[in-house]
Amino acid sequence: MNFNPIKIRRIKPKTKGKKLGLIQLIFFMINSLSYKKIVVKVGSNVLTKPDGMLNISRMAHLVEQIAQLKKEGVQVILVTSGAVAAGRAEVESLKKLDPISSRQLWSAVGQVKLINHYADLFHKQGVICAQVLTTKENFGDRHHYLNMRNCMQTLLENDVIPVVNENDTISVTELMFTDNDELSGLIASMMDMEALIILSNVDGLYTSAPDQPGSELIRIIHPHRTTEGISISATKSDFGRGGMLTKYHIASKLAGQGISVYIANGFKERILTDILHSMNQPAFTHFLPAAKKSSGVRKWLSHSDDFARGEVVINEGARTALLSDKAVSLLMIGITSVTGYFKEGDIVRIKDGMGNLLGLGKTSFSSDETMVEKGGKKTKPFIHYDYLYLV
Ligand code: GLU
Repeated sequence: MNFNPIKIRRIKPKTKGKKLGLIQLIFFMINSLSYKKIVVKVGSNVLTKPDGMLNISRMAHLVEQIAQLKKEGVQVILVTSGAVAAGRAEVESLKKLDPISSRQLWSAVGQVKLINHYADLFHKQGVICAQVLTTKENFGDRHHYLNMRNCMQTLLENDVIPVVNENDTISVTELMFTDNDELSGLIASMMDMEALIILSNVDGLYTSAPDQPGSELIRIIHPHRTTEGISISATKSDFGRGGMLTKYHIASKLAGQGISVYIANGFKERILTDILHSMNQPAFTHFLPAAKKSSGVRKWLSHSDDFARGEVVINEGARTALLSDKAVSLLMIGITSVTGYFKEGDIVRIKDGMGNLLGLGKTSFSSDETMVEKGGKKTKPFIHYDYLYLV
């Protein structure tokens, strides 16, 4: 019997007049798209009205743009906040709850509302979307990480748009994403995307507080630029957990890995399509990508600091070797001390004698073995070059 348990049914676009006309088609061919694989992150403040209710017309406009880009051949992953805000507007707790319980109550109720709206709105555009909920812990274990990557790859290959959010109902407070900006960065890196567009309620980063006279939008940030001359407010947004500080850190890190990052205003009409078509000169801050692309393992390691099980301190000779241009592994002979308890295959931090973090890597030895072998002449590397990420 030919039994296919997973059958993806294509749905026909329901809306009339949404098909691309000849003029539109020629227009799109002339305006070639800048990216073919993008992550779009939308914050709670963009998706909610001042009274806290979901702003359905704004969601509809974003979905319309994503559907258009998809029809033009762009793979899009949508990372969306809004569950907690939607739940808070929907249900009032019967008794006073602690912050964890109220987050669980609101996100559990609100995520249903949020994804239902997305499913309806994408359906109207003739596009299928799927819900992917994840936690930070899934990024710490390489096996879970690859499983999650496989899931999203399968969705994309089947023309389905992954709609991703943190699984706020079960995330452990100490191991939550700082906010969905961090989550979107991890996804963009994991899926090897070309660009991440973070939609916020401002146009981007400014030279001083945006409401100060003379403050100017910074349009381009070159890789490895310092924060000098950039005003980064530490204030959090009203409905979400995010803020400019994490956006800046995530954007710089990703750009350093060769991924283009835009911080742009989600309130502006056609912002996504304008960015992708390089049209109408929309206001945004663009973090230019560094030329160097990191390998898959290094990208994973670069986001794994929270999951490190231990630490090794290395001597000056090993430090010089690691920081040179050569491809070198970290050997036992360079290790002076070990802390923490780790097994072979766990992630450990590498520090110099002054306590500076030099990098992270996946070890080939346990902490017990390292205690015995450190400083010795063991030929098998403690961390092989392929599993070494230098900050
Ligand atoms: N995951 C949270 C939500 O859906 C949002 C986290 C954030 O604000 O970035 O409400």
